[in-house]
Amino acid sequence: MPSEPPAARHVLEFPGGYTRTTGPVIGRFLSELRARRIVGVRTAGGRVLVPPLEYDPGTGDPVTGEYVEVGPAGTVTTCAWVDEPLEGHPLDRPFAWALIALDGADTTLLHAVDAGNPKAIATGTRVWPVWSERPTGNVTDLSHFVPEVTRIVAPVRTEYRLRAGGALGVFLAGVERGVLLGGRCPSCQKVYVPYRLSCPECGTAIGEPVELPGTGTVTTFAINNLPDPRAPQVPFVSAYILLDGADIPMIALVGDVPAHEVRHGMRVRAVWVPPEERTASMTNIRWFAPTGEPDVEL
Ligand SMILES: [Zn+2]
Repeated sequence: MPSEPPAARHVLEFPGGYTRTTGPVIGRFLSELRARRIVGVRTAGGRVLVPPLEYDPGTGDPVTGEYVEVGPAGTVTTCAWVDEPLEGHPLDRPFAWALIALDGADTTLLHAVDAGNPKAIATGTRVWPVWSERPTGNVTDLSHFVPEVTRIVAPVRTEYRLRAGGALGVFLAGVERGVLLGGRCPSCQKVYVPYRLSCPECGTAIGEPVELPGTGTVTTFAINNLPDPRAPQVPFVSAYILLDGADIPMIALVGDVPAHEVRHGMRVRAVWVPPEERTASMTNIRWFAPTGEPDVEL
């Protein structure tokens, strides 16, 4: 048998468009759309059909001719995500086809929802219409829907000055002079740094501060791979350093050493910024750097 000839491609096109009448019901619907309203029509049984039809599809009876404004918002009852829009789709970026129950309607309307990503739309999502800029009485006057606004991004910036009170003020005044001040509990003899006014263990009041040397031992440390404004570069090491003569460690940066060479028991010394750059702030200590002394057993 001879094989069938290949099908030829035919195109039927009306340049300038094919003019047809809308009928009274669709005409009213499109006129309302042009005025940025969505209307349905009430059936004899009282239901509101959107888009409106000339006959009730349930009974075949003519509708009542009573138009009811619905929406403009609605609720998604079903949706399907379109990853790659085709020519002729209402949007040129990924979107969702959704059946939308407009507020006040008894039927659902199929339309596109510009949700941004498939996780932003589901059954129950509230959506609002986006109108075309210049409505012309075409079904495309209702361009598409977008999810309801549920959050906003508000710029936040807070600037404040901190006045260190009591004990912290004493400690920072020491830091401004290049000295680390601790407090010795007269009862249990423990030395705390930064200086504080009472012993956290026994509650005894702490008197005059004691000067601690700028040397100490790394007890624990962390290698950080996320940048921090205080750190010179990434990765940087933050560590708990037990100052010589203190009983609790303080947290500080460790520098002048590759991150992978920092270890428990490493001896370190505070590296201070030059005196003319000092303020009453912890930024006076650039970081702690290895002293080169043998490691200490902790
Ligand atoms: Zn104590």
